[in-house]
Amino acid sequence: MTKHYSMLINGSAVAGDEGSFPVIDPATAAAFAECPKASVAQLDQAVAAAAEAFKSFQHTSHDERKALLHQIADKIEQNAAELAEIIVREQGKPMPLAQMEVGGAVAWTRYTAELEVPVEVIEDSENKRIEMHRKPIGVVGSILPWNWPLMIAVWHIMPALRTGNTVVVKPSPLTPFNTLRLVELISEVVPAGVINVLTDEEKVGPAMSAHPGISKIVFTGSTPTGQHIMRSAAANLKRLTLELGGNDGGIVLPGADLDAIAEGIFQTAFLNMGQTCAALKRLYVHESQYDELAEKLIAIAAQQKVGSGFDEGVSFGPLQNKMQYDLVNSLIADAADNGAQVHASAALPAGNGYFIAPTIVTGAKDGMAVVDKEQFGPVLPIIAYSDVDQAVAAVNASENGLGGSVWGSDLELAQRVGMQLECGTVWINGHAEVLPHAPFGGCKMSGFGVEFGQEGLLEYTTIQVVNINR
Ligand code: NAD
Repeated sequence: MTKHYSMLINGSAVAGDEGSFPVIDPATAAAFAECPKASVAQLDQAVAAAAEAFKSFQHTSHDERKALLHQIADKIEQNAAELAEIIVREQGKPMPLAQMEVGGAVAWTRYTAELEVPVEVIEDSENKRIEMHRKPIGVVGSILPWNWPLMIAVWHIMPALRTGNTVVVKPSPLTPFNTLRLVELISEVVPAGVINVLTDEEKVGPAMSAHPGISKIVFTGSTPTGQHIMRSAAANLKRLTLELGGNDGGIVLPGADLDAIAEGIFQTAFLNMGQTCAALKRLYVHESQYDELAEKLIAIAAQQKVGSGFDEGVSFGPLQNKMQYDLVNSLIADAADNGAQVHASAALPAGNGYFIAPTIVTGAKDGMAVVDKEQFGPVLPIIAYSDVDQAVAAVNASENGLGGSVWGSDLELAQRVGMQLECGTVWINGHAEVLPHAPFGGCKMSGFGVEFGQEGLLEYTTIQVVNINR
């Protein structure tokens, strides 16, 4: 990467007060660029700029902000090739998937532009009129993960801007450059201070959660970090949207058409090398079809081409970082040590990249770490069950509740079973599909609040009731 990307505070490109930190290419495990390192004083400047910009931006009309979002979508489209290249370099995913991520970012931006913010009339009688308005909250802080960095940045930023808030963004230090470039593009169309971005490895995230000038945090990441943020947010009662970890279970009902569902199961479990919050992470299969489905999934895994995301025909890139690579390898080793069978025959490229072949674990049981923990990587444990109620109980035994799925030909039965799962979205004959018009979020330890659709948009607003005595 030859271009240098800067942070942005109050419309100006700035370097990090604390110098810089290296960013690793996961396909080579070597640093490929330096990223600016912000100080907490720079966070204060960014929050002050966003607060100042909020004074006027909150009063812009819905039509103006709709138009701004469409201009941003145009900019993303015009720079799609560059954004996709940055994503492959720093995140590792194969180019077609990175292009899909950029396409998704455009689609989400345009959809969010067109959403309406309603004014509800609660009473309109002879003596009284009560209206409920939705006002922007103020300065929104966005803290991002490394798995779908551009898409999730768009999920956080666009509804915030659409509703008239101003924003301070902090990408993951592991995947910062796509967000720096995105914010640069956004800044070409919005007034100074409306969007600001800071990059840092340690201090800025916690300082954002505690910052008295930030009124809402939207966070996507792990459950422990979400808990930290929630504790710090108490100081000024920040509004929170927390999209946290998941350990989604899927149940294949007896008599399912395995030829029809095997590919879908594989793709939704291994989407983005399994580094997807709502990927299928534990598969419960009735004992009558266990061997047959396992064989099909093992065969699909064997056909995958693992390599650099820039190489032609590659369907599996590296894991994004060393910590995740070590975790997934240790979960696979632990499963083998505990009597499960590990199937992973796709060839790995030479070199130091964080590559793991797509892995199916048969003979997996509840209680094994590979089943009970969120792997967030290219491994799918398959657990045999004899009774559907037992499978439902096993899926619900997780402390997480992001997504779940039921696979089968009897759709009514599948829906009945699915609605017993404790999760924010249940898919029937699918998994991991998120859409701009369908609210998405978790329950239990997977967080609270939703993104997308009208419900997601309104999370960036606060209610004001106007009670008029005539
Ligand atoms: P993470 O929690 O380690 O980091 C996320 C972000 O939080 C990073 O920007 C990090 O710098 C920042 N951060 C770290 N400590 C902080 C603190 N104390 N205060 C404030 N900010 C802090 O998560 P990750 O490893 O980047 O992402 C993987 C996790 O995210 C997985 O658990 C996955 O399931 C989850 N995830 C959830 C969703 C969802 O929509 N529910 C989507 C994607 C990822």
